Amino acid sequence: MSLLELDGVSASYGHADVLHGVSFVLPDNGATGLLGANGAGKTTTLRAISGMVRTTGRIVFDGRDITGLGPDRTAALGIAHVPEGRGTLGQLSVRENLLVGAYRRRDRKQIAVDVDYCLDLFPNLRERVGSNAAALSGGEQQMLAVARAFMAKPRVMLLDEASLGLAPSTARRVYDAVVRLRREAQVAMVVVEQNANLAFSVVDDATVLETGRVALQGSSAELLGMDAVRRAYLGG
Ligand code: ATP
Repeated sequence: MSLLELDGVSASYGHADVLHGVSFVLPDNGATGLLGANGAGKTTTLRAISGMVRTTGRIVFDGRDITGLGPDRTAALGIAHVPEGRGTLGQLSVRENLLVGAYRRRDRKQIAVDVDYCLDLFPNLRERVGSNAAALSGGEQQMLAVARAFMAKPRVMLLDEASLGLAPSTARRVYDAVVRLRREAQVAMVVVEQNANLAFSVVDDATVLETGRVALQGSSAELLGMDAVRRAYLGG
């Protein structure tokens, strides 16, 4: 059963058409990647799903047509977008940021359990739980962005360039947590990631975009078996 399905999705900013008929399917509890050069349309695809850009075609989430629903509605349905640049609330503490992530929920006991789970997932955040988000390192802010998104109890997380600007070991820790969220909390993932080694450590399959169109699609094993993919995304 598919959780999320894009069927011929196109998107534009004003008069600039940037996506042209993108289609892919994400199974329940699956993880799929979006690869492609800068400007290929990866971020825009995530924005189309979460309802932040004008979109045509059809996007079905959990059996329901969500094409054209805005970000509040898609978030309420269980889609958590972790944007590039993180977007944590700098003047709030780590704990407050996590609680903001849970603002739609009323299950207070489970919220406390989930805060603890996030701090277990990211021990760095446990040490900084009372600090303002603005005082965190870039890696800690990325961890907080992922954790805050999880606090909404999403069915799917849209992860945009979570490794950007991070030291390799920090990026690895973020992705180890993403793998755990998928396995332990059954959160499905759509992963946009320049670092294909990290992406392929999470995803089962991927779509390669070129100038807003699907250029290639396949399982991770199929894509990793292609010389062109290895040359373009794995440096050889
Ligand atoms: P990157 O890795 O650089 O973020 P990307 O594959 O995510 O690349 P998008 O950010 O989706 O690509 O951009 C796709 C195209 O849309 C690019 O040509 C970009 O210039 C254009 N674009 C992105 N945002 C806007 C905007 N707000 N207004 C107009 N054009 C935009």
